[in-house]
Amino acid sequence: MRSYDVAPGVDAALARFTVPEKLGFGAVDAPVMYSVDWAAGAWGRGRLLPHGPIAIAPGARALQYAELVFEGLKAYRINRDVPNLFRPLENSRRLARSAERLSMPSVPEALFLEALDAVAGTLSRFVPGKSGQALYLRPFLFGTESGYLIRNSSTFRFMVIANPVEAYSTGPMRVAIEREDVRAAVGGVGFAKAAANYAASLRASSQAAARGYTVALWLDATEHRYIQELSGMNIFAVIDGELHTPSLDGAILPGITRDSLITLARHLGHRVIERPIAIDELLRQISTGACSELFACGTAAIVNPIGALADRNGADHLPKCIGEVAAELREALLSIQERRAPDPFGWVREIGPAA
Ligand SMILES: *Cc1c(COP(=O)(O)O)cnc(C)c1O
Repeated sequence: MRSYDVAPGVDAALARFTVPEKLGFGAVDAPVMYSVDWAAGAWGRGRLLPHGPIAIAPGARALQYAELVFEGLKAYRINRDVPNLFRPLENSRRLARSAERLSMPSVPEALFLEALDAVAGTLSRFVPGKSGQALYLRPFLFGTESGYLIRNSSTFRFMVIANPVEAYSTGPMRVAIEREDVRAAVGGVGFAKAAANYAASLRASSQAAARGYTVALWLDATEHRYIQELSGMNIFAVIDGELHTPSLDGAILPGITRDSLITLARHLGHRVIERPIAIDELLRQISTGACSELFACGTAAIVNPIGALADRNGADHLPKCIGEVAAELREALLSIQERRAPDPFGWVREIGPAA
């Protein structure tokens, strides 16, 4: 028996919807969304709703104090009827860690999965089916109580919205090293998937874009010396034939793609090293050729090569290879996600029955 309600208007919204040819990433809204409220210490009953604007008190903690954490994952449906998710329990656990850091109530695993199944199941026929395409799912949890007291909200809402997407790909990325602004400090909320981290990063991202770069590369907050990640993507370097990625330091977001690539690369015979990586050392290794390749990874982009690292003075550092190891790992990961290859790690989960 279904444990959530389906609001009037859902069927009509589904009947009206067609998947356009051009999807982009987040440009097309799926016609339904899921919503459930938390009050007086307990979660209420979930509802599947037509996608649309929501009412929120203008003084809500989410708006005034950025009391909001989120997740991002994809439903894939390549040559299948029933879509599948990729490691959704990892998203559930990460949302719980994010909520814990912001002292928000956690979303129980069963509720998290119910919401994903409700949305992805109802939308299964709209999950685009070309390799690289997917239904992007965006779960988020936020404080709804109005007021300025410096304490947590006493009421919360958990929602899931969705977008049919194509792989977020820009071609080889031109990355701008950010030497002044800081995204996240150890002790802060960097390891949490918190909206506030993005707020801190948007200026550098916009400036990078205005200067013709794709994204900013963040350095640690204390010494501005060690690389952290790109806004929304983790980073890997191929150094002397081995894969190096910054160790999780409390300020870096522990990407599920990052974690999956570490496991997969080792499985494929690569040596993978997690360690602090100093930017000056990395730039030196690019110039000597010891660092032959750089790439970024995340749910949205999957694995995306980095074509250039640029410093504030405009100097471009170009790794000699673009996308060799990256292409191997991208295909290895995507073929599991899309169920074109065996799933030796038990990462794929078929979504439950639709509404
Ligand atoms: C979501 C996110 C990532 C990538 O995480 P995945 O689980 O691989 O999608 C990396 N960095 C930041 C800041 C993020 O918000």
